[in-house]
Amino acid sequence: MLACIKTENGKVEMMDLPVPEPADGEIVIKMTMATVCGTDMHFLDEFPSAVLEFTYPGNLKPEGLPMGHEAVGIVHAVGPGVTRFQPGDRVISSCLVGCGKCHECMTVDHSMCTGTGGRVGRVLFGCQAEYYRVPFAEVNVAKVPDGVSDEHAVLATDILSTGFGAIDRAEAGFGDSVAIFAQGPLGLCATAGARARGCGLIIAVDAVPERLEMSKKLGANIVINAKEKDAAAEIMSLTGDVGVDVAVEAVGTQATFEACTKVVRRGGTVSSIGVYGLSPQISMPTAVPSFLYRNIVTTLCPSGHDRMEHLLAMLENGSVDLTALFTHRLKLADAPKAFDLFRSKTEGVLKIAITP
Ligand SMILES: [Zn+2]
Ligand SMILES: [Zn+2]
Repeated sequence: MLACIKTENGKVEMMDLPVPEPADGEIVIKMTMATVCGTDMHFLDEFPSAVLEFTYPGNLKPEGLPMGHEAVGIVHAVGPGVTRFQPGDRVISSCLVGCGKCHECMTVDHSMCTGTGGRVGRVLFGCQAEYYRVPFAEVNVAKVPDGVSDEHAVLATDILSTGFGAIDRAEAGFGDSVAIFAQGPLGLCATAGARARGCGLIIAVDAVPERLEMSKKLGANIVINAKEKDAAAEIMSLTGDVGVDVAVEAVGTQATFEACTKVVRRGGTVSSIGVYGLSPQISMPTAVPSFLYRNIVTTLCPSGHDRMEHLLAMLENGSVDLTALFTHRLKLADAPKAFDLFRSKTEGVLKIAITP
């Protein structure tokens, strides 16, 4: 089968590999659509073995890493012990797979699983291939209703769950004010989540005009181009110098994290979902009034079949429509081009649908 593999830092190649076989508790899925995500770029460009060991125990090396963790497909083969799925079922898997049995799976979230030997849930590598394997399938896989498109199903595996997670974990609700820093695909999902939760004022910040246009479509009341204006000063002015109830950091940079701490009101919450990479590490000034009496919550993609089933219900019934996030379509054989395009942030690119 055709698979997209990292061959060295910054480089992927298409390779011909054997179709995987499911072991105990696993299923193998025939991919019908996959996509590239910001986290793929961290794995491609910078994360060394130490970080892989953190998220995928078992000595996976940066060279030879099977790429991709967001996809939808049809069950091809079912391993021993799997009873919830049959070949032919249309399914998705969470991008972080949990064992379903450890303390973190039972009390925190499957994304924080320690039962697979790592320190956070295991990343589902290898979705940018004709077939991919999912461990602990009973815990991590959900059936996709007929009324949900492949595009929508793919989003429920990661960025929709993560973007909405920024809003739920900050407990933003009816009438609350929310500022969201960065309107890449993840930040746009947070914007749509703030709208779905009934927030009163949704302010979206980015430097790319096409992304700000999309924010308006997905629910932002006000957009700020960070190239033209000092976004933090503008948000303070829009809120009468009080600040917003919730400030979401959705890209993973020092500057946007700091901006969130500056615009959140006393008693408010900074909700961080960006993936920061190896550097810079975040820090914040503490000898300033904006340090005191704030909440900071961080979230990694809330995972597991129940979470995805809730998101799929919203998509199936039209409570949220994110189809517009898919701006480009490419064949699997051209997956390396998808990485170049995604990295360039040109041509208005948001999500790229990759099909066999
Ligand atoms: Zn992702
Ligand atoms: Zn677990």
